[in-house]
Amino acid sequence: MSYKNYPMVSRVVFGRGCFNQLADIISPKRLNTRAPFIFLVDDVFKGDAWLNSRIPLAYDDQLIYISAKEEPKTSQVDELVEQIILTHKDRPSGIIGIGGGTLLDLAKAVAIMLTNEGESRDYQGWDLVKNPAIYHVGVPTISGTGAEVSRTTVLTGPEKKLGINSDYTPFDQVILDPELTKDVPKEQWFYTGMDCYIHCIESLNGTYLNAFSQSYGEKAYELCKEIFLDNDLSEEESQDKLMMASWHGGMSIAYSQVGVAHAMSYGLSFLLGTKHGIGNCIVFDHLEEFYPEGVALFKKMKKKFDIKLPQGLCADLDEQQFDTMIDVAISLEPLWENALGKNWKQTITREKLRALYEKM
Ligand code: NAD
Ligand code: ZN
Repeated sequence: MSYKNYPMVSRVVFGRGCFNQLADIISPKRLNTRAPFIFLVDDVFKGDAWLNSRIPLAYDDQLIYISAKEEPKTSQVDELVEQIILTHKDRPSGIIGIGGGTLLDLAKAVAIMLTNEGESRDYQGWDLVKNPAIYHVGVPTISGTGAEVSRTTVLTGPEKKLGINSDYTPFDQVILDPELTKDVPKEQWFYTGMDCYIHCIESLNGTYLNAFSQSYGEKAYELCKEIFLDNDLSEEESQDKLMMASWHGGMSIAYSQVGVAHAMSYGLSFLLGTKHGIGNCIVFDHLEEFYPEGVALFKKMKKKFDIKLPQGLCADLDEQQFDTMIDVAISLEPLWENALGKNWKQTITREKLRALYEKM
């Protein structure tokens, strides 16, 4: 038995308004005046003076707004890297990602691809990255994915949706300022928050569970119950707690694995472009047989916040499309093994997955 030797985020600052410290934190990391910091910022913040006035641009630093409407693609990462190389003489001093899981994953992937040859699709998988990434900083503006703490960056490539999992992927610095999440729309808040809740359920009910994962998973699960079921949290408390739940949920799956909802949601996302948070919710809503208590609580939370999930997503799919979706889901073997144990193939057949997808 060999145990995972897991890399962690080297530095983290937490607190309402700590985003103000960004300049102080990164300036010692500037290599020289020609080596810029590249800020990758969710374009939802375009024109938002409250946020932008605190992005410390100097010398040749560059700010690139990026839409989070679609999840990151390998081609998008490669184009960004090329654009950065062509624009600047020197290799950047660092990449700073500001946004949700989409921007955080882009920042991690770009930081890796600036020091590694070839295309990002070559690195989708486990431990394929050869050289350390350049300095990279994550600033989440919505809570739930755990991308701020994870060892992966999930990319959709031509053939697969798979992360670049490596020891060089985690951020060197994370800035956890819950105030940055204040304007997230309710539906999106719920979907991304439920990603965290589902991480906890899948980790705590998985066969890979161990004391390390459990300690983080239980904390995140308790926080999610406070946030999504209790009545007496202020908005600020709720923002603070969800940011910490996301962190702990991410730590919990780091040392175990996700499960059925994530495997099936990857299928939806690959075929239909359904985004991670809402896709997980659509799938999880139909997983009573795998996670009875988790799904029952999820339905309560959904009701409390009056969330109406899309229905009939798979109603008009043809055979080939079902096959593609099932191929993607079933190929994620560690997720199924975590969820159901070594003999998972006895329960999870193509017919079984087809029947589940037909309900969605
Ligand atoms: P997101 O980054 O896709 O953003 C969702 C929406 O919220 C976007 O419209 C965005 O513009 C908006 N938004 C973000 N911050 C906002 C703010 N402060 N105010 C108003 N609107 C705001 O959302 P997400 O759910 O955080 O991330 C999903 C992505 O994360 C997927 O691509 C998924 O694959 C990835 N992911 C990665 C990991 C990992 O470990 N690397 C884990 C889970 C998910
Ligand atoms: Zn997730």
